[in-house]
Amino acid sequence: MKKYILTLDEGTTSARAIVFDQYGNVISLAQNEFTQIYPAPSFVEHDPIEILSAQYSAITECIIKSGIKPEEISCVGITNQRETVVVWNKLTGEPIYNAIVWQCRRTAPLCEKLKSLGLEEYIANTTGLKIDAYFSATKIKWILDNVTGAREAANRGELLFGTIDTWLMWKLSNGKIYATDQTNASRTMLYDIHNLCWDKKLLDIFDIPESMLPTVKKSGSIYGKIDIMGAQLTVCGVAGDQQSALFGQHCVNKGDVKNTYGTGCFLLMNTGNTAVKSQNELLTTIAATTEKQAVEYALEGSVFIGGAVIQWLRDELNLIENAAESEACANSVEDSAGVYIVPAFAGLGAPYWDMYAKGTICGLTRGAGKNHIIRAALESIAYQTNDLITAMQNDAGVTVKSLKADGGAARNRFLMQFQADISNTNVICPNNSEATALGAALLAGITAGIIDQKNTCINSTAMTFTPNMSEAKRQKSLQGWNRAIKSTISFTKEEKL
Ligand code: ADP
Repeated sequence: MKKYILTLDEGTTSARAIVFDQYGNVISLAQNEFTQIYPAPSFVEHDPIEILSAQYSAITECIIKSGIKPEEISCVGITNQRETVVVWNKLTGEPIYNAIVWQCRRTAPLCEKLKSLGLEEYIANTTGLKIDAYFSATKIKWILDNVTGAREAANRGELLFGTIDTWLMWKLSNGKIYATDQTNASRTMLYDIHNLCWDKKLLDIFDIPESMLPTVKKSGSIYGKIDIMGAQLTVCGVAGDQQSALFGQHCVNKGDVKNTYGTGCFLLMNTGNTAVKSQNELLTTIAATTEKQAVEYALEGSVFIGGAVIQWLRDELNLIENAAESEACANSVEDSAGVYIVPAFAGLGAPYWDMYAKGTICGLTRGAGKNHIIRAALESIAYQTNDLITAMQNDAGVTVKSLKADGGAARNRFLMQFQADISNTNVICPNNSEATALGAALLAGITAGIIDQKNTCINSTAMTFTPNMSEAKRQKSLQGWNRAIKSTISFTKEEKL
């Protein structure tokens, strides 16, 4: 009986492989880190060959650990870091440059130029994105413009572009699969999210030949066979990491929201079949769906410094020894004693978008101590998430009734309760914290027919946090946060002038 699902979870710092059974239980897991390459300030690269070997050895280790034979695997799901670009030569199979990672800012000047040409409106309307170095298009152009002979080879039809999902499938299928899914395509800044095709005008603007772009499929569909330990396994599900987590958290109905509390936070709301255009600088993106479903969309916002503020307490301030300790510290005081931390260490994202902002601590008094600061740091993660929830509610015209939480910092019960209180919503933590990998596994399992899409037992709720703060206190706390944001922005404003 083929009842297992192999999932490749290729992240920014490591490649993981997980074998799930058909009920979504993790049977085994293996993980390999790979090198982060920083060739210049704000340049970030990965070696695509190293990613491939890290991924492949995680797969073999995971299958061996699971005790099952590759032949018992029904299907494969893939989820991956989004936007990161690989360009390779299809004749040799060799990358012509390192992968340019989503975090890399090298194309920021090109983005400024695109803005000055007045392309913001067209790009937002077509792709749902803001012009930013984050997305794939300017990275592909950079490779074509800067690698010797690349432009000529591209014009001869010899080069292929792919996000990491595409690269892995192409290599593991010996060049037979050249495809990506709609969620990954929607992060390239080249894909028309309404007409579901590569946009010719954008390809002209970026001077990218269409011959170097993969076929785009539904997230849950049959991609083809890859060779794993001598067995031919069928890839049946592919999704970018955040959309995969949205699916893995069962946020499949309009208005469903998940937040991943990692180093940063990624909040996504399913908006059903409508691509909602944000009035609050959020992104519009495609959500993962299966072959039988019509296309669905999501609104997306991110908090740059989420769990990272806890790392800062640990590594820079030495206030705690490990992240988990922050929970007891926060609970040891009644409140933050009026202290607010705005951790704008990397500027402020949606809905403020102030790339010059720097962090602040407001409201200090003589009585403010270590535990108040720790509590304020945890609260800042919830306040920033709440700002995104508010923006999404305004954009989508729906009220968020519950928030599904995952990621490392979602283990912090103080944070989850404070989130429920400050957002006046239920916060739901699932049993399976591997929501990202589970999403790809579900997409694959549903497509292969071994999982019923309506099976709600998978990833059932482990804990629900319900709001327990008076409305007066909530409003007062939010007013304090808003004042702290205002002073953070005005602190750097004068520096800019
Ligand atoms: P990523 O995938 O971004 O690497 P993870 O989902 O592994 O992140 O989460 C790691 C982040 O979560 C770190 O920034 C860490 O500080 C934070 N974190 C982990 N455990 C806790 C905890 N118990 N309380 C608060 N923050 C935590």
